[in-house]
Amino acid sequence: MSRYINEKLSTLDAYVPGEQPKDAEYIKLNTNESPYPPHPSVYEAVRKQAGFLNLYSDPESKELTEKVAENYNLEYENLLMTNGSDEILAFAFAAYGGGRKRFVFPSVTYGFYPVFAGLFGVKYEEKPPREDFSINADDYCGVNANVVIANPNAPTGLTLSIGEIEKIAATNKKYVVIIDEAYVDFGGESALGLINKYGNLLVTRTFSKSFSLAGGRLGFGAGSRELIADLKKVKYSFNPYNVNRMTAAAGVAAMDNWDYYANNCLKIAEIRDKYKRKFRELGFFVTDSKANFLFVSHEKISGEELYSRLREKGILIRHFDKNPIENFNRITVGLEEQMEILYKETEKIIRES
Ligand code: PMP
Repeated sequence: MSRYINEKLSTLDAYVPGEQPKDAEYIKLNTNESPYPPHPSVYEAVRKQAGFLNLYSDPESKELTEKVAENYNLEYENLLMTNGSDEILAFAFAAYGGGRKRFVFPSVTYGFYPVFAGLFGVKYEEKPPREDFSINADDYCGVNANVVIANPNAPTGLTLSIGEIEKIAATNKKYVVIIDEAYVDFGGESALGLINKYGNLLVTRTFSKSFSLAGGRLGFGAGSRELIADLKKVKYSFNPYNVNRMTAAAGVAAMDNWDYYANNCLKIAEIRDKYKRKFRELGFFVTDSKANFLFVSHEKISGEELYSRLREKGILIRHFDKNPIENFNRITVGLEEQMEILYKETEKIIRES
């Protein structure tokens, strides 16, 4: 760090993304990407747009926004397309935090929330989950603060019901309630249907997981016209061309092939549930994840050791060293063949422990 950096940033711990190693071929189950490639029509759409890269992208992402509106049964004015869902989350922290406007979120959740808060100078409070990592919705009712909850949560994969989300939105009407639905397509209940009822509800979505577009960087926010206008103000004060033309075209092509992706999600959920059972049979504690990952720990081996031993075997999973989840690993659900190799190697490691 240089001596020129501003004081606020000098103490900020930046987000650490999952490893993307290039030293060897790994079975990569560490960053919750889809194991399935984009639909073939996405390749063609991207190739076509490559020829227009001399021109800026459409700052409104009009065609994509219309497609998303049509597919999710929403109005154009209720949507804002962003560079991954990280960007819409960043816009929300910038728009709604600061001064006395705090954020509240679980202490076991997506590690980027406290980073955004630090970056934008937003005060926040973390609420511990129950012992089984489930979130108690009552902890977020009437908190007099903005709320952000991932549903399904990360890295646990546990969900809140729509009734619970509604209660949180209804009891915090003076504040914004953000529901991060990055993993909802693998089994959670979406709150998109509530945005017209609750003007303070912002739902964020990503194309990185269920739509096989992590490398394209595409996400969106859905909320009342007023919320979207706030978030647009941040976007147009930061990066008007936040979604590049190849990614926007990829998003349109993905929307046009909905069934391909919906079927991939079903396959991932099936593989997840099969290995949830198998890991439990091996003596693992496994949360009832509804996302595209498993969250696991075992009495016989530390989280760190399981991570390292699997890495030696060419399998990458995500280890967390933060209390109270230092004994846990998050395993992205991959192809059945990949999961079987992971399972066999894990079985050997547990037997030897
Ligand atoms: N929310 C959650 C809960 C996540 O796990 C992730 C993925 N790291 C994101 C949002 C952001 O994903 P992206 O920026 O790729 O849309």
